[in-house]
Amino acid sequence: MNTKPLAAPLSALLLALTLPAHAALRVFACEPEWGALAQELGGSLVDVSVATSALQDPHQIQARPSLIARTRNADLVVCTGAELEIGWLPVLLQQSGNAKVQAGQPGHFAAADVVRKLDVPSQLDRSQGDVHAAGNPHIQTDPRNIALVATALAVRLQQVDPAHAADYAKRQSDFAQRWQQAMARWAAQAAPLKGMPVVSQHKAFVYLYDWLGLKEVAVLEPKPGVEPSAAHLQSVQAALKGAPAQMVLYAAYQDARPSEWLSKNAGIPAVKLPFTVGGTDGARDLFGLFDDTLARLLAAGVKR
Ligand SMILES: [Zn+2]
Repeated sequence: MNTKPLAAPLSALLLALTLPAHAALRVFACEPEWGALAQELGGSLVDVSVATSALQDPHQIQARPSLIARTRNADLVVCTGAELEIGWLPVLLQQSGNAKVQAGQPGHFAAADVVRKLDVPSQLDRSQGDVHAAGNPHIQTDPRNIALVATALAVRLQQVDPAHAADYAKRQSDFAQRWQQAMARWAAQAAPLKGMPVVSQHKAFVYLYDWLGLKEVAVLEPKPGVEPSAAHLQSVQAALKGAPAQMVLYAAYQDARPSEWLSKNAGIPAVKLPFTVGGTDGARDLFGLFDDTLARLLAAGVKR
């Protein structure tokens, strides 16, 4: 625990006081999905900077000086929370010296705080790998969670930028309407997937499965964040003989080899899912994220 006191440099304080009224709100998002959501809700009122790309493992990010500098300049930090960024965000916040984006401040928004978490451990045992005590943090794979986060994030934007509160409220209601329509379309498209047994490489999709009614019958990582050994892969393959799965799923940022090994040896497709905005060519924005996720699941799962 680092107890170095936080002190906003005087120059930063003076700058904040002299900003012109029309300056865009500087949003620093930890992951692409929250950057995309802030952009949807803020439009030209916000200047969004995203810490990670869809091809990076969000659990494992280096607290580089460039990220510290962006945290220092942020008016609002928007992250997943639920300990996803526990290895790097506290360092960014501490090193930034930016008092207004510290945890508990209005300038600090944790998306996972506003959704119901799955996989919350009944007892905390760090020997079980990189277990998230706050529950599974990968909440963005369920569009119902995106809707909840959008509502809360719009309220927060109004709070930190009250001069534009009416604009944020209007953009939120427009987004919510388009999102509800998209969710109805996705639910109809995904109906054939219901009950489908699948294998995951990482426990990255529990919220997606909860939404679509997919059944996770095995996970390739023996513990969260631990690469599967050959022996472990073989044991999963053996277990699947009794309880077959239709496909194995991995996130765009992951090394595909464990999924490809299982694909070859169990004779089921390995399906790459975008996981977040930018993970695949089709996942250009939040709508594309779910359009492409469903297209990939349906292409691999329905014709068999
Ligand atoms: Zn994880």
